[in-house]
Amino acid sequence: MCWGGALEYAESLADAGQCAVAAMARMDELSIAANPDNFAVWYHYSAKTIPDLTKALDALLDAGETFTTERNAGIFSRFFTLDRESEAIFRTAKEVEERLADIISHMNRAGDGAAAYGEALLNFTGKIQGAAGDGGGEDGEGVKGLVSGILETTREMEEKNRRLEKRLQVSSLEISRLKENLEEVRFEAMTDALTGIPNRKLFDIQLRREATEADENDGELSLLMIDIDYFKKFNDTYGHLVGDQVLRLIGAVLTSCVKGRDTAARYGGEEFAIILPDTDLGGALAVGEGICAQVGEKKVLNKKTGEDFGQLTISIGVGVFKNGEPPTELIARADKALYRAKQQGRNRVVAEAHAA
Ligand code: GH3
Ligand code: MG
Ligand code: MG
Repeated sequence: MCWGGALEYAESLADAGQCAVAAMARMDELSIAANPDNFAVWYHYSAKTIPDLTKALDALLDAGETFTTERNAGIFSRFFTLDRESEAIFRTAKEVEERLADIISHMNRAGDGAAAYGEALLNFTGKIQGAAGDGGGEDGEGVKGLVSGILETTREMEEKNRRLEKRLQVSSLEISRLKENLEEVRFEAMTDALTGIPNRKLFDIQLRREATEADENDGELSLLMIDIDYFKKFNDTYGHLVGDQVLRLIGAVLTSCVKGRDTAARYGGEEFAIILPDTDLGGALAVGEGICAQVGEKKVLNKKTGEDFGQLTISIGVGVFKNGEPPTELIARADKALYRAKQQGRNRVVAEAHAA
């Protein structure tokens, strides 16, 4: 997971100083300009506060990569920009969830313990009752009195236990409900309301995550940028509600065309994007062609009148991730390819220039 929490700086002056000194030494050793952005990167590397950053830099250091100005800017933008507050909210929500799970398990254990105690006490009373039965005379009466006292205390204890268990159960249900709410909120915040597919926020997070993964494992990563052709005309002719219906249809087609770790998202307006991990240019072009073909098979009809709204087409630009680059550069190249697809006549898939 990419970095997504509030910044946690070393508390003590000495610790912070050590991290700063180590960061400066590293930057000097690697000939990295000591500007504030680079300093933030290497300070956090030294302090080990952002696990994903540490992993990514370790991978680059192990591979003996050079820290060029572009690479440094890329690392900074990947870990320190783009909506970090909202990522912090999601990370906090996740932590709250984990704490709640802890509390639920503690409460359940407390409930079990109380029930076991009640049972043990009942057993004990049963034994004394047996002994009293064997007795007789005054001694026997005394034991009986003792027994009924214990019996009463036991019943009270049992009743208390039952009430406690009931309370625990109610709290436990309440906490589970809160947990579900939290899950729903997180899901909604990451989902596009119109199409029901991942939104731009989730796309950004996912792309950064996959870029880090590709960097670390020297893996393949491709990106499709998708735009509906002549959509303005479509809206103008048939109205926005029909346009919205088309957006939902495209969202559904894209979702049906991807699998596994792929992410099909609404990028904004009438633009969509698909992240394809472990996919090279050839694979990405094939996915793009498949999507164009699927869209070509769809008919957009007026449900009431049966009126045919005409053939829908889309254009797709393909970009392939270059190790170490910021995700924004990948998006820019796929966008350029999309622009060329439009220029070349639309309803087609075009790869980024110079892609192997
Ligand atoms: P091109 O083939 O070059 O992509 O042309 P285009 O008409 O699709 O592109 P343009 O950018 O000119 O128009 C995009 C249109 O998408 C304009 C806007 O009304 C429409 N649009 C964006 N978001 C929504 C939405 O949420 N619902 C609807 N119905 N339309 C939307
Ligand atoms: Mg557009
Ligand atoms: Mg368009």
